Amino acid sequence: MRKKLVFLAVGAVAAVLFFNASSTKATSDEIVVSIKPLHSLVCALAKGITNPTLLLDGNSSPHHVQLVPSQVLAMKNAKILIWVGPAYEQPLFKHVKQLENNVLALQDDSSIKLKPLRSGTFWDEKSCCVHDHHEDHDHHNHHEQSDATNLDGHIWLDPLMMTQVVGVVLQHLKKLYPNHQGLLTRNANDYKKRLEALHQDLLKKMEPYKGKTYIIQHDGNQYFDNAYNVKTIATISIDPNVPPNAGHMLKIRKAIGDGKIHPKCLYAERQMDGALARSYADTLKLSFVVVDYLGADIPAGEDAYEALMNAYVNAFIEGIK
Ligand SMILES: [Zn+2]
Repeated sequence: MRKKLVFLAVGAVAAVLFFNASSTKATSDEIVVSIKPLHSLVCALAKGITNPTLLLDGNSSPHHVQLVPSQVLAMKNAKILIWVGPAYEQPLFKHVKQLENNVLALQDDSSIKLKPLRSGTFWDEKSCCVHDHHEDHDHHNHHEQSDATNLDGHIWLDPLMMTQVVGVVLQHLKKLYPNHQGLLTRNANDYKKRLEALHQDLLKKMEPYKGKTYIIQHDGNQYFDNAYNVKTIATISIDPNVPPNAGHMLKIRKAIGDGKIHPKCLYAERQMDGALARSYADTLKLSFVVVDYLGADIPAGEDAYEALMNAYVNAFIEGIK
């Protein structure tokens, strides 16, 4: 226990030092981007013009991260803040409302269509949802505060969605840097080719696992499932901010026992409570793999997105093969 506390304390100090180092820079930086995969894309687009600042390093979940004052300051000082929106980085919302500068919430752009979060206990292997009315009700109550949280913001898990994001970010950067229109267009075209190549690579890697189903800690894999023909069959938490209840787990266990669903693996997310997920995997007698779609251990920068998607898919395959 003591060891764990020391480890946590060292981690917290390291996180503060790390952010202080980058936030000193942030006072003169022009672009601040919320999460590593988006930051990577913006770095590639702004190459040769400016170095965007990363706001959240990916060590804790953006669904419920606590911002430190230097992060709030970095948002205030930026010429533009780029984020998915309240559908994903909810804790930023109250600060964004107070910003007078330029803000790009990707979920507000008409070319980026967010899917609704799913509700119920688990989903049918063939088609759509197996509804559980009681839990549907709970789910909607929980989300009454903000409609935006009824949407799934994990768009970067499909590289082809990221090509849409390139188009949106490009428009905004052209307004911000009117003297660099040509360079921005070239950078954007180069990066779209990289995204297409990444998608083709991942398609090939995922091909043998087509149609396989799995359980994950919370609902965030719809874009990934669509892109790579696999399927989330159930989640442990209906919402990432709400702990699971026993009834929910019992229903999943019964569905597996009755042969109604055949998940290959339970995936835990690096940013969430791994010990809890492991205990559920034991209960459900499923293999257990930790995935990290924010690339907490991958250095930020223009290559980060491809690296984190490759790492994600490699870990994913470990569970589903
Ligand atoms: Zn999430």
